[in-house]
Amino acid sequence: MIYRGRFAPSPTGPLHAGSLLTALASYLDARANNGSWLLRIEDLDPPRTQPGAETSILKTLEAYGLEWDETVLRQSERLEIYREFCEQLLREKHAYHCQCSRSQLKARGAVKNYDGYCIQNPPNSGSPTAIRLRGGLSTPFDDRVQGVQQAEAVSDFTVFRRDGLFAYQLAVVVDDHLQNINQIVRGKDLLSETAKQGLLMQRLSFSQVTFYAHLPLILAEDGQKLSKQTLAQPVATTPDSIRTTLFKTLRLLGQEPPNHLIYNDLTDIHTWGIEHWNINKVPSDLSI
Ligand SMILES: [Zn+2]
Repeated sequence: MIYRGRFAPSPTGPLHAGSLLTALASYLDARANNGSWLLRIEDLDPPRTQPGAETSILKTLEAYGLEWDETVLRQSERLEIYREFCEQLLREKHAYHCQCSRSQLKARGAVKNYDGYCIQNPPNSGSPTAIRLRGGLSTPFDDRVQGVQQAEAVSDFTVFRRDGLFAYQLAVVVDDHLQNINQIVRGKDLLSETAKQGLLMQRLSFSQVTFYAHLPLILAEDGQKLSKQTLAQPVATTPDSIRTTLFKTLRLLGQEPPNHLIYNDLTDIHTWGIEHWNINKVPSDLSI
């Protein structure tokens, strides 16, 4: 099997320490396995997209020497593709239209576990509807960092929202399939989404085997995940700070770079990282 991995940031702000850790780990894992490393911009949600963030992310990756293969994919340019797969799900009765508003779901206690209301009471045509996938039992999998994840019951969930946006779950599964991605290395905040994604893959008859590695998160002091909302600082891009940040990130990933490596140039740090990459050393959690 030829390794194909990817890094898929949302352009909601510049790269911070947490997203750099994900980028570096997925890059090293791909390169250590003679694989391809693709870049995908997950800009499906226009209100969350920050102008200039994509350019800033690409420039930072380049400055850190994280060179991607093939052309950059942008989800905002692929809406027609997602629409076709949504239609397939509807046609094959794996999904149905749902018109329930959030307040209606709340009133029925059906926010987390959908109660099937719109299967019994199909919505009127004309007004906007969401498209909801029928739930089911997910497939267990052995995460390369977090260990064995048991099968779980997944409730019916939306793949297309009433406000006209495709759900992240659908876009990711479709893109990974069409790009032949077979290794997903990403942050642990997405571990809980994997069951839904596996179920979607089954419903869409995507039969490729996908391996997962969910990386520990760098948390802010208050225990929250680093993000634009928690005002995570962008990673520095001066030559000295790039070397120091790469060195520190290797350490956070449980790799054990020798002290002198911090004084070496970028190429040496990359070479060391690829030659010594050992995903079994990556901790399942980080406490700093
Ligand atoms: Zn409904």
